[in-house]
Amino acid sequence: PDGLPALAAAETALLDWRSDDSGATSPHSTAFDDVYFSRHDGRAETQHVFIDANRLPQRFAAWHESRPFVIGETGFGTGLNMLCAWQSFEQHAPADARLHLISTECFPMQHDDLQRALSVWPDLADKAATLVAQWPAAVTGIHRLVLSSRVILDLHIGDSCERLALLDGRVDAWFLDGFAPSKNPRMWQPELFTLMAARSRPGATFATFTCAGIVKRGLKAAGFRWRKVPGFGRKREMLAGEIDAPPEDIRRQASPWFTSPGPQPCTRVAIIGAGIAGTSMAEALARRGMEVLLFDREGPGSGASGNEQGALYVKLAADTNLQSRCYLAGLLYSQRWLGRLDPEQQLWRQTGVLQLATTDRERRRQQRFMAHHPLPREVVRQVDAEQASQLAGLPLPHGGLDYGLAGWARPRQLCERLAESSGVRVVRQNVDALTLVPEGGWLLNLDNGEQVSVDQVVIASAMGARDLVQSASLPLQPVRGQVSRLALTNDMPAPARVVCAGGYVAPPLDGWLTFGATFVPNNSSNETLSEDHSANLAELDQTLPGYTALLAASGQSLAIDQLTQHHQLDGRAGVRAASPDKSPYAGPVPDSAAWHQDYAVLVKDATRVPKIPGKHYPGLWISAAHGSRGLASAPLCAELLASRICDEPLPLEAPLVDHLHPGRRTIRDLIQGKQLQRK
Ligand code: SAM
Repeated sequence: PDGLPALAAAETALLDWRSDDSGATSPHSTAFDDVYFSRHDGRAETQHVFIDANRLPQRFAAWHESRPFVIGETGFGTGLNMLCAWQSFEQHAPADARLHLISTECFPMQHDDLQRALSVWPDLADKAATLVAQWPAAVTGIHRLVLSSRVILDLHIGDSCERLALLDGRVDAWFLDGFAPSKNPRMWQPELFTLMAARSRPGATFATFTCAGIVKRGLKAAGFRWRKVPGFGRKREMLAGEIDAPPEDIRRQASPWFTSPGPQPCTRVAIIGAGIAGTSMAEALARRGMEVLLFDREGPGSGASGNEQGALYVKLAADTNLQSRCYLAGLLYSQRWLGRLDPEQQLWRQTGVLQLATTDRERRRQQRFMAHHPLPREVVRQVDAEQASQLAGLPLPHGGLDYGLAGWARPRQLCERLAESSGVRVVRQNVDALTLVPEGGWLLNLDNGEQVSVDQVVIASAMGARDLVQSASLPLQPVRGQVSRLALTNDMPAPARVVCAGGYVAPPLDGWLTFGATFVPNNSSNETLSEDHSANLAELDQTLPGYTALLAASGQSLAIDQLTQHHQLDGRAGVRAASPDKSPYAGPVPDSAAWHQDYAVLVKDATRVPKIPGKHYPGLWISAAHGSRGLASAPLCAELLASRICDEPLPLEAPLVDHLHPGRRTIRDLIQGKQLQRK
């Protein structure tokens, strides 16, 4: 119903290992009875068939665009083709050029198989190690891997046709791989070639090892020219070719408001707000070579992202919906992104998160969730009370769901570290107003009276978005949240995993046990309150029944007055911003008045969709409404916006990109006849 195939665990590759002449072993698919690469010289085959036939060395050497060169592949397999393309890019491309790799894979290899398959190429060892370290769980969907500051790999797990239909992005060169058409007829459908054409840039090339009639006919019908060229080794011929005029993307004809504003020149960007949304945005843009000015009067991590410790987790809906998919993709991305940023786990810890079923209702919800989400066990699995107790290292009366890849992070320190990324300058000023410069770019008025000009602006200031005219009408609600911290004496027991039920409690950090948080909509106070400490202590007792009694029994006082007096209890309150549907806003800022005018007819008749693309403020973006889940949502939203700003393929499927669009509520309100309620 949400336009996406079911969220599921992908089946992993079934393979065995066969020796070649030199005695080296290479993978062979038992499911397809075919090889992953030539057992005689896989490297030379890749170079001949995919790299040279697409003229990549020459094209890389001549690549001077600000956007990355994009390669699309069907059938990632061992990743050999992509690693070779990366190597060729490093050898030939100018130092500031970037490469974006997209590859589909229906049956991803298991981690150890991938490692073993790639171990036979010593000169690719570093690249293989980078890939293996970030190898995602086998969950259908897009997994963005940042391979280096210049190279991104988007793994699209699922069937090639299904994934290309959902891809929001265009390709410069195709590697048409996949097992032989005779052994894998499911992939080599006419629809595959039509989708390749629809996702091609003008002049995009392709190369494939096969000369099968169905491939030649399919490519021609889709608009590609092809020619036979000499094949590799014993194969006499293969195909290469190009498409001059790919078809338009018609996916947003029924929702023209979501039409992308298109690329704008950009080298200097202002980001307003240095919380987790703003600082992850700064890192994403600086990594792409942008000059970033990060504005925050109080400095990085001073608002709701300023806690010492926060849980990195999500609560997925029992029935899959777009929001859950965004959050799951976000959680998986955050975990990879943190692993790359901080492999030593100083700023975060992948302890796992237990979501306890403390009520019958929650137990039923979790049952339904497990029935509908056959996800890999490493992502989420059901545990009984005994297993939960073992994982947490504390006796727990309830079982629940265990998210093994989740954990906790140090949001304040994380924001500080991100703000120090090379290319980012922190400006401790408030941005009072934004003015669009008619010739292009934006003028920022700072509260010290100065003006600064930039090419583009990202608003990442949570509720602060309401103070800027351009984003003032986006529906945002303040939600106050206070966490409490209790000083633990040395021998106190404590949870080894993040445990959550109503609230959460994290493993101790520097001798402090953090738990909370309160959740008070429509309250903008960030004062620390003693009644919120009481509420958090009561919630802690609900989450870990008996734990507070255990603390009391080991001599730890739990009386708030006494704890406060002895500096054994402190906390921090912050104001987060939430949207009415509780999904973040990540996209271009709509010109609200224009939308109300252009789409007014929807109030009367939702089926009369005007053919007017959504009007946006040029080069103005927003990443906000992350609520209390910013650690899971903001880094992926930052990638999404950076990819839109830099004209790259997007890290989320088109329906999810639209789900996060800041204009979605305007359209919904118009369709529901609420035109008069808002300006
Ligand atoms: N390019 C790979 C490399 O560099 O190692 C080799 C690819 S291998 C010959 C073919 C791959 O296509 C396998 O990994 C297989 O699982 C995948 N595949 C098969 N059918 C598919 C489909 N319908 N959609 C996506 N991938 C598919």
